[in-house]
Amino acid sequence: MENISLVVDEYYKGFFFLFLPNMCNARCSFCYVHPTYLKQGRISNSSLSGLDKLFRQLDRLGFETVRITGGEPSIFDNLDQLIETINNYNFNYTVLTNSFDNLNLLKAFAVKPPKKITISFHSIANYKKIFGVNKNPLKTIEYIKDYVASGLSVTVTLMFLKENMNELKDLIDFFFQLSVGEIKIIYPNIYKLQLKLKDDYNDLISELDNYAESKTKIRYTDLNEKKCLLRKRGFLSITLPDFNITDCCINAVNKDNIHLKTDFSNLSTLLRRFYFMRNNISGFPCESFICSCPLALKNFSYA
Ligand code: SF4
Ligand code: SF4
Repeated sequence: MENISLVVDEYYKGFFFLFLPNMCNARCSFCYVHPTYLKQGRISNSSLSGLDKLFRQLDRLGFETVRITGGEPSIFDNLDQLIETINNYNFNYTVLTNSFDNLNLLKAFAVKPPKKITISFHSIANYKKIFGVNKNPLKTIEYIKDYVASGLSVTVTLMFLKENMNELKDLIDFFFQLSVGEIKIIYPNIYKLQLKLKDDYNDLISELDNYAESKTKIRYTDLNEKKCLLRKRGFLSITLPDFNITDCCINAVNKDNIHLKTDFSNLSTLLRRFYFMRNNISGFPCESFICSCPLALKNFSYA
């Protein structure tokens, strides 16, 4: 696959992750990006003008979707300026958020609505404990209802955790009734070696047949995936404010990623290099202690 547009379409599937500056208004113990705790942030003008140049190159190369993540996108009071920059090019975008608040999100969606909003929710009973901050889950539920009512495509992410495993079935039920488009159930890396928890997780997945009539799609961590997904597909990730680039979002916060020069002229060479290096990958390069790929999600198919 020498042709760069084929690499972009078939290996990268046309999307890239944009990691906003690593700040978040939550303190989740399982978080792999380890953000600085902040309630409010601002994307700098130099980041926005750098992104404008970078997007021009990525657009030329044929990328279509920007997946905005962080840290927490909703804390940035000029998120709308980022969406305006995205809107200068032929991109759609998706956003991953805890949606504790929706003010900055709604301002951004008024510029251009996202193709999808993915909300980390996890729990009602232990919401504060899991997110490590004093936030009200009922407020976020109201926002989710509003997003669904306004026609946005909504995904809810539920981590499988000791603190919420007893309420997950009820939560799945609840979000089915809210008619969200998709529910993702994620088994965290920190439990990879815990056989009892794996059994509990597999029991939960085996009970999903009850939802066979629903239109809501379910995806869940596939503990049987024994290879790094990078052999099959890339997860191009760009991290602000330094414009670091990696081939997998899980590696985005590692220090050995590549710093892009501000003219971004080496981008297609870099993407080809990641593509050709994939054959050398063995094991799970992101973490040494895991035993399956944390990005491997399986579509639930009804028996
Ligand atoms: S909300 Fe997301 S980014 Fe923030 S601490 Fe939790 S897992 Fe990390
Ligand atoms: S094994 Fe790690 S590096 Fe490979 S795709 Fe999965 S998360 Fe990314």
